This record gives sequence, C-alpha cells and structure tokens, in this order.
Amino acid sequence: MKNGWETIIGLEIHAQLSTESKIFCGCSTRFGDEPNSNTCPVCLGLPGALPVLNRRAVELGARAALALGLHINERSVFARKNYFYPDLPKGYQISQYDQPFSERGELEIMTAERDEAGHARVWKPKVVQITRLHLEEDAGKNVHEGLPDVDRYSYVDLNRAGTPLAEIVTEPDFRSSWEAYDYVNHVRRALQWVGASEADMEKGNLRCEANVSVRKIGDTNFGTKVELKNLNSVRFMQHAIEYEIERQINALESGGRVVQETRLWDERAGETRIMRSKEEAHDYRYFPEPDLPPLVVTRDFIEGVRATMPELPEARRRRFMDQYALSYSDASQLTSERSLADYYERAAEAARNARAAANWIRTDLLRELEASGTPVEKCPIPPEEIGALIRLIEEGKISGKQGKDVLSEMFRTGKPAAKIVEEQGMVQVSDAGAIDPIIDEIISANPKQVEQFRAGKESLFGFFVGQVMKASQGKANPKVVNERLKEKLKV
Ligand code: ADP
Ligand code: MG
Ligand code: ZN
Repeated sequence: MKNGWETIIGLEIHAQLSTESKIFCGCSTRFGDEPNSNTCPVCLGLPGALPVLNRRAVELGARAALALGLHINERSVFARKNYFYPDLPKGYQISQYDQPFSERGELEIMTAERDEAGHARVWKPKVVQITRLHLEEDAGKNVHEGLPDVDRYSYVDLNRAGTPLAEIVTEPDFRSSWEAYDYVNHVRRALQWVGASEADMEKGNLRCEANVSVRKIGDTNFGTKVELKNLNSVRFMQHAIEYEIERQINALESGGRVVQETRLWDERAGETRIMRSKEEAHDYRYFPEPDLPPLVVTRDFIEGVRATMPELPEARRRRFMDQYALSYSDASQLTSERSLADYYERAAEAARNARAAANWIRTDLLRELEASGTPVEKCPIPPEEIGALIRLIEEGKISGKQGKDVLSEMFRTGKPAAKIVEEQGMVQVSDAGAIDPIIDEIISANPKQVEQFRAGKESLFGFFVGQVMKASQGKANPKVVNERLKEKLKV
C-alpha cells in the first residue's frame, strides 16, 4: 500500500444456517427445486399468515455464536426491517435490530504476512472484535433472462425466501485485505466445523460485504466508508478491497473526496462500480415484530448446545502440537477441516506413529486427493489402512519408496496395503548377501566416481546410494545399502 496511508475494514457475513426447513414456516430449504415449489402463505407473505420460529435455526445460531466465542443473550427481539423489493413480498424482512441474539465476541484468528504473489510468509495471531450475530430470514431471488431492451424477462423465485441466516458483523478492525481474507476463512471453517452452515461462497450460502475506508497514518478519526458487495469468493473479496483502497487513496491524493456509497465488484473488469449512494440508502424504519414474542433462550439451552459442540479447530490444533509433537504448520494443515483431523487421528492411532502418519497424509495422501478432486470424506483408503502401510514400512517389510507406490495403488483400487504388497511380490531386501553383488557391480561400473570419492569428495556418497537403489528397483533396504556401501567404498 501507498506510504502514509492506513486501511480500515469492517466485515458483514451472511451465513445460511443448515436447517431442513425455513426459519418461520415448514417449507423445505432444499436448493435447486422447481421455482416457487417450496413456498406457503407464510414465506409468500400472504395476509394473515403468522410466523412460527424454527427451534433448529436457534440451535444452529447458537452453535455458530459459540464457535466464534460470542456471548448469547438470554432475551432477543425480532424486528421488521422495512423496504420494498420484488423478491420480498411481505415488504419487510424479519431480522433483529437493537436486541440481537448474540453480541460482543473477541475472536482470535491467525493472519499471515504475504509476499507479492500472495504466499503466506509469517503467521501471527490477531484478535478481532465481533459486534454481533443476529438471526434473520433471507429474501427470494430475482432471475433475469434474455437481452436488455430486446426480450428481457424477470422472474421471482421465492424458494429461498425465509431461509434462516446468521448475520455476523465485526468492528472496523481489519487493517489489510489479507486480514479480511484470513478472517472470512476462519469464520467459514468454524461454521462448517460445528455444522452450523455449509458456508460455501460459491453456492451463495455464505455471502460477505466489506466496508472499506482509508485514513492518513496518525489520524484518529475514521474516513468515509464504502460498502462493497457482490463478492462471490474470498479471493474476489480480497481483490475488491485492494482495488478500493487504491481508488480511495488516489481520489484523496488528487484533492477529491470519498463518497459514502455501495459499490459492486466486477471481477472480470477488475473494478468496483457504484450501485447506490448514501442519499438512496434505505431508512428501514425498524420496529419490533408484533407477530413473534421475544426469543428467550435459557442458560440450560445454551449449555445443552455447548455440550454437543465438537472440540474447536484451534483447540484441536494446539492438542495436535502437544499430544503428537507436530509442528505448527503440520497441525494447522491437519485441522483445516474437521473430517481431515478425524482422518488423521484414526490413522495416527493405527500407525502407532503420529509423526509418520502426519507426513504420509500431508504429502502423498493429500496429493492424491487434490489431483482427483476427492474430498477426505470420500477417500478410498480408510485411515486404518494408512496406519497399516506405515507399519509395513517400519517393520522393514517394504521400503519407503515402495510405500509410495503402494499408497497410489491403494488409492486407485481401495485394496488393503498388505494385499497389494503380497500381490505385487513386494519385499524389501535387507540381506547383505543379496545387496553386496549389486554394490560391487555399481562400483566397477563407475571407477571415476569411486576414485573421486576415495580422494575425499564425500558428496558422491548419495550418488552411489541412488545407483544401488535404482539397480535394486527400489527393493533394497536403504539402511543396509548405506552400511554396505560405506564398508565397500573404504580405501
Ligand atoms: P451501516 O449503518 O452503514 O451499516 P454500521 O455502523 O452498521 O454501518 O457498520 C457496518 C460495518 O461497517 C461494520 O462492520 C463496521 O465495522 C464497518 N465500519 C463502520 N465504519 C467504518 C469505517 N469508517 N471504515 C470501515 N469500516 C467501517
Ligand atoms: Mg450495514
Ligand atoms: Zn413457507
């Protein structure tokens, strides 16, 4: 960023809670059904229809709040947020306003300094103040078809109307686009981890708005903020914020000013465009929803939810470092998803070697999963079999190199490690009587290297090991090869 300027960012996230039915009626929340098939008088906003709060939405809201370290209010109030839009047939959205479900959280996230290419260099903790998490209903969707001014039709699909959302708002605590990026990823993982939301930005069940302003370093007042919308992935959000910072600084440095407005990000054009100005902003005329009583959740209810919460990602990462002696980066990667952490722990137990299990999963297994686009849940190798493979190697039955081939084969066929080793006649040769003749051959085929080695060029040792391993088709036990080579290369 340009010298002398500081960026201020606050984020608003809307996460769809993973309920089967909508927040105030029994209609299905299933995605992709025939338009308007999942609707009823309540979510269509027909006169006289009355909302009834979905208990499951409150439970998932509580899981989300607890996963982010927020305080849950025992009493909160639903409020009408009034505005007109075709996808909102009631003319108002049921949300929460001055008495939200949950507020005041201090969330510690990890954030990285990055190089020009966006690669993380150093990770450090940062505490983010979360202002609130409230419950509300989603609106429907306007669908536009055809060409403007030619044969353009607009349709309204109300299947999404009434889907439960948690809106999570932060204080203006972020100082760079990457901090915002790391925060959204943290929240996404936390919500997925506790099963509160699928939190998939591409499917639209996690949406994010960024409020951005800049100020001169040393200023204590905030500058005018611009709200950015249409951020369809975390990466796009980061691009949009970067663009917006530049735009605002350029405006101010050339004697202009920043206007408070909402802007849309266009990823293809790589720029933000004005959507509406402050003057066009709505006055929502909030008032308490007369058709719903205040939401009262007891301490027992909250403690009941807490009791069913899984160990949270950061706690699990710390435990992995303590219990399994993993490095920070190993433990972080293995807790990037709950299913991966579960997989790892089962593999580590079966292997009776937690470090080896971490290595095999992080390198070979994740490579196979990524290359084939397979999620961990669908991994064709059960974690116990990763353990079995590691034991075959540790017992010296096969070499590490053979192990890599076995793992690929396991991934392809789903067969157990022992079966593949047996079928392919893989055995590790540890018998010096079988290895010595190979070593003799390599020594006589490479007289020049032998001479150099004996003259003191010790770096050539690796060359000999490689040659012997190759000649044995990877079957020779590397430990024995090392010992015998040392012996035979001696002057
Ligand atoms: P609004 O009423 O316009 O929605 P809020 O006060 O509710 O504004 O804040 C919305 C979001 O904008 C919050 O995440 C908040 O932290 C952030 N925000 C507020 N002021 C600024 C600012 N000057 N620069 C950047 N973000 C800000
Ligand atoms: Mg706002
Ligand atoms: Zn309905």
